[in-house]
Amino acid sequence: MKLDITQVINGRLDRMEFTYKFSPDTACVIEEAPLLPEDVSIPEDGITVSGEVVSKGGYMTFTAEVDAEYTAPCSRCLDDIHEKLSFSLFRTVRTGAPAVVDNTDDDEWDGVLDDVLYVHDSHLYPDGDIIEQIVLELPMYQLCSPDCPGLCPHCGRKLSEGDCGCAAKEAERAKKEIDPRLAKLQKLLDKSE
Ligand SMILES: [Zn+2]
Ligand SMILES: [Zn+2]
Repeated sequence: MKLDITQVINGRLDRMEFTYKFSPDTACVIEEAPLLPEDVSIPEDGITVSGEVVSKGGYMTFTAEVDAEYTAPCSRCLDDIHEKLSFSLFRTVRTGAPAVVDNTDDDEWDGVLDDVLYVHDSHLYPDGDIIEQIVLELPMYQLCSPDCPGLCPHCGRKLSEGDCGCAAKEAERAKKEIDPRLAKLQKLLDKSE
């Protein structure tokens, strides 16, 4: 979203509220927004943003509550999980271009402060920062259910759909592979079971 904050900049308003929805496809950005991981998707209008721009004593701030719906695969069985994450985003608002800094000493520093949202022609473009934060907030590991049994390591079948029989077959094979010298011992162990 391109937020027109002219009224706040010229002092006619000291507070401006906003609510809007967007998705990565419809994001309005000045610079390219970071990409979501390939296996994560956000539905149309899946990101809800509501917040305010406040001007106080010549100091402007941007605050927003963000709710993002997304679909990502279960880390064990790869089934799609529909999840939602929520976070707050706080930024200092600055007019004028990002400070140009001599960055010969530090290749990482690009002269742009992370916690600052810059004004471009009386507008704010928060979508890029919001998507960046979603990427940071996404869990590395998530399950469709806490006890998801995952996939069979032998045939790849989903174990929640029933026993594929591989585990039993493997156990049988392992028994046969036992060193003949130990077979006697195995027999004794089987008896005692
Ligand atoms: Zn699962
Ligand atoms: Zn199997």
